[in-house]
Order: sequence, then structure tokens, then C-alpha cells
Amino acid sequence: MKAVVYKGNGQIALEEHNLPKLVKETDAVVKVTLTTICSSDIHIRHGAVPRAVPGVILGHEFVGIVEETGSAVRNVKAGDRVAVNVETFCGECFFCRRGFVNNCTDSEGGWALGCRIDGGQAEYVRIPHADQGLTKIPDNVTDEQALFTGDLLSTGFWAAKMEEIEPGDTVAVIGAGPTGMCAMMAARLYHPGCIAAVDIDQRRLDTVLQNNLADIAVNPRVEDVYGRIAALTGGRGADRVIEAAGGSNTFEMAWQIARPNAVVGLVAMYEENQILPLPQMYGKNLTFKTGGVDANSCGEILRLISEGSLDARCLITHEGRLEDIMEAYRIFENREDGVIKWAIRP
Ligand SMILES: [Zn+2]
Ligand SMILES: [Zn+2]
Repeated sequence: MKAVVYKGNGQIALEEHNLPKLVKETDAVVKVTLTTICSSDIHIRHGAVPRAVPGVILGHEFVGIVEETGSAVRNVKAGDRVAVNVETFCGECFFCRRGFVNNCTDSEGGWALGCRIDGGQAEYVRIPHADQGLTKIPDNVTDEQALFTGDLLSTGFWAAKMEEIEPGDTVAVIGAGPTGMCAMMAARLYHPGCIAAVDIDQRRLDTVLQNNLADIAVNPRVEDVYGRIAALTGGRGADRVIEAAGGSNTFEMAWQIARPNAVVGLVAMYEENQILPLPQMYGKNLTFKTGGVDANSCGEILRLISEGSLDARCLITHEGRLEDIMEAYRIFENREDGVIKWAIRP
């Protein structure tokens, strides 16, 4: 089969690869029907994800059809259409029992797919802990609608939840890229008074406004972000801030535009250390929440998609085939042609 392999040293390649096999009785093999490229794949290529193993097949955001299951798998069977969770997790360890599945202590737990074990930029993929990692897609939900369930929508859903958004809040989301867009969609579920999208890419800002993901767009290249957010909030600052950009100054922007006692959620994946200037922020009494998604809400997300409460199809700007994925990578990495996300069919 064809698969995208991380070669180390900034290199990836589309190569012929052996078909995956069941290894443990809790595994499933999934035939990938739609896959995509994530900015985390670009981080891996850049060497910014030290735990990524050279030789691994990339891809951690995809949907497919169950091909085969191990004898202990109960929740899915061959032929089921499934959304695949970015995280494989045992469901039984200290962290899993508390819902913190990103830190599952199993050897194949946490974010392993397309990083430490072979992922889904391929025709077939082995999924460990299939009962936890696969969720059946409702019949009225298409592959395109379900594609982002396990990673981007999970991240947006998790980010909005940890923000403790209250009705009427002003929520500032820094970064109107795929993660920020999903965070805005999920934040809407909590009935905020205003969602303000902040990005230097005017095209992305236009997209989030057109799709009603945000109410207000702020472009730091043309206006003062602090001034605009202050004007929106009676001079207080944003009640909730989600930092989904990971730029050189966006961490600083996140805590500066937050009002005192705000929750600042950091879901961006930084490639460099950030500075937390505690003397400057003393008395602002902020709550920071950081990290990588605990992706254990796929069932709820698919239910919301099925009901029409979540719809991430507006992220798909480009479609292609697996054999052309290297060109898709180039376009995605260079943000050419207004790309937000690819939908790639093996
Ligand atoms: Zn990702
Ligand atoms: Zn676990």
C-alpha cells in the first residue's frame, strides 16, 4: 500500500509499505477512506516533536471502515464506518479513568498514531485499543463531516470546555486556522455574547465571519488588538481567551487581552519556549490551562454533527488523492491558494 513515511531530518516521502496486521487482541485494522494533513505533521517534519519516530507512517486525523478486529474488540466490527481518535488509550490506567487520556500510561497510549506508531496517511492502519479509539459514524453523517472528529473537533471541543465559558462571555480566539475555527464552533455551544477571532491572515478572518464562527474579526496588522478587545468589554479585556495560533507573540497577546480573573487556554503547539512574565502580570489573577487534547468526546461530537449543531465542512478547501499528497503537503505548509484543510482519498 502507499503511505507517507517520516524519514527524519526534515524529510517525508510517499512510499510503498507493507499492509498492517492485527498485533494484539484489542487491535483493529481500518481501511482509510478519507484522511488529512495536520499542522502537527509539519511540526514533526521540522523536528519539533522529539518523540516522533523516524520510519513511522504519518497521519492522525482520518476516518475509515473497519476491516478486521481482534478477538477482544467489542464496540466495532468489520464493515463499520468509524471516526478514528487521535489518541489511542487503554481506558483503564490512572489517567484514563479520570478522562486524561492524552497521558495514558500504556505503551501505545496518548498521541501515538502517526507519531510513535504508524498512522493514517495510508491505505490501511492498525488501531490499538480499538474499543476506545474508534467511534461509529452515524448513518446521516458523511466522511467529510466526520473527518475532523478525532483531532481538530476534539481539540476545539476540549478547549471550549476547559475555558468554562458562561453565557454572554466575550471569548477571544487567537488564530483563525483549523484549530481556532473548531474552537470557535465549540465555544458557540456555550452561548457566549461575542466570539472575537484574531489573526493576521485577512482571508481566514473573512472565512470565519462568513461561516458565522466568529462575530468580530481583529487583524493585528491593521488594528490594535488590545484596544479593540478593551472597547468590546468596557475596558476589562476578554472573559475567556483561547490561544490557537502558536506564533512568536501570540502567547503574550493571549494574557494581555485577557481581563483579570480570566481563563486563558493554550492549545497551540509552540516550536519555541515562551516567557511567562510573572512580575508584569501580578495581580491579574489569571488561570492558564495548557496542553494537548484529551480526545475522549468523539461520541458526543458525532452526535452534535448528526444533529446539525457542529459542522466543520467549511474547513475543507482542497481535495485530492493519496498519490498526490506530497504536493498537498507543499501547498498546506506554505499556506498557498487559501488552503485551510485537505480532504485526501487513499
Ligand atoms: Zn493534528
Ligand atoms: Zn490509559
